[in-house]
Amino acid sequence: MKKSLIACGVLLLLCSCSGASDAEDVADTTDAEQTSLTFFAMDTYVSVALTQGNGEALAEVEAYVLGLEALWATTLESSEVSQLNQEKSLVVSDETLQLLEYACAFSEQVSGAFDISIYPVVKAWGFTTYDYNIPSQSELDTLLTAVNYQDIEMDGNQITLAPDMEIDLGGLAKGYIADGIEAILRDHGVESAMIDLGGNVQLVGSKSDGSQWMVGVSSPDGTDILGGLALTDKAVVTSGGYERYFTDDDGNVYWHIMNPQTGYPADSGIVSVTIVSDSGIYADGLSTSLFVMGLEEASEFWVEHQDFEAVLITDTQDVYVTQGLMDSFSLALEGYEVWGIVP
Ligand code: AMP
Ligand code: MG
Repeated sequence: MKKSLIACGVLLLLCSCSGASDAEDVADTTDAEQTSLTFFAMDTYVSVALTQGNGEALAEVEAYVLGLEALWATTLESSEVSQLNQEKSLVVSDETLQLLEYACAFSEQVSGAFDISIYPVVKAWGFTTYDYNIPSQSELDTLLTAVNYQDIEMDGNQITLAPDMEIDLGGLAKGYIADGIEAILRDHGVESAMIDLGGNVQLVGSKSDGSQWMVGVSSPDGTDILGGLALTDKAVVTSGGYERYFTDDDGNVYWHIMNPQTGYPADSGIVSVTIVSDSGIYADGLSTSLFVMGLEEASEFWVEHQDFEAVLITDTQDVYVTQGLMDSFSLALEGYEVWGIVP
């Protein structure tokens, strides 16, 4: 079996276990015959692989992603998000409004485990600059007073933040964009494609031979493939501690997924969450949120909603797979035990 590593978060196996490789399907050519596109945006490699050439669709995808990056990147001073963070009040575009509305409604759904106003805390830990630092409790206490998505006011397209609040849409943006890319591809008649935005994978249809795609799930340290998911037409999003972290002199690990209640990296016993869903944005939000919730709350959330599936990996090397994925998931590494989550 030939494996092709495309992303760091969710690792893609571009070929099926039958050994039929899609490698020739995704070879780069030009224009109408073009089947693949890779470029850097949103702090990650964006790649789209089609099983049939469609250069027009790929050109539209690139313009679409770059357009949204210009609106939402916190690294660009001119982006709407940066301007909003600075001015605290701004009339935003419909796309930004749409994502903000989704973010606030979603935060409500996960009881605040997800909160776009966590951004100043993420910055204080140095995750935005890679200049890592453990903030003092008093600094965190001060920053946490401005963390509350419920204090974001929306009046039509006019958004107003609380005085010390800053937001980052990064926890949802890739999911939103993956859904948008899928819509563009489908508009162009594409029926089989794989979209990868560094950890956010979106599968359009099945492979060219009608078989399912195989999507790899990374081991908790990100160095190996823990297992595979055989899927068709799904969004697959992983949030893993290994994606961005630092270690202090005593060997304690601090990662980029924060508990909005404490201002500390989530310490729930979960070290990686992969969500499978029809919706990329929902999967993106859930992967972060279930990481924060921990196994028990995450399992209860799944039982209550049952509109997504999940693979949860704990720091005890236990892998929990929700009922709908039990036939799709296969373990590839030794040393882990797989458990099912059923209602
Ligand atoms: P993801 O990689 O999708 O799990 O998103 C993680 C990114 O979202 C982090 O790099 C932070 O910028 C931000 N983030 C971290 N914790 C949270 C949280 N609890 N709610 C919302 N965004 C968060
Ligand atoms: Mg996410």
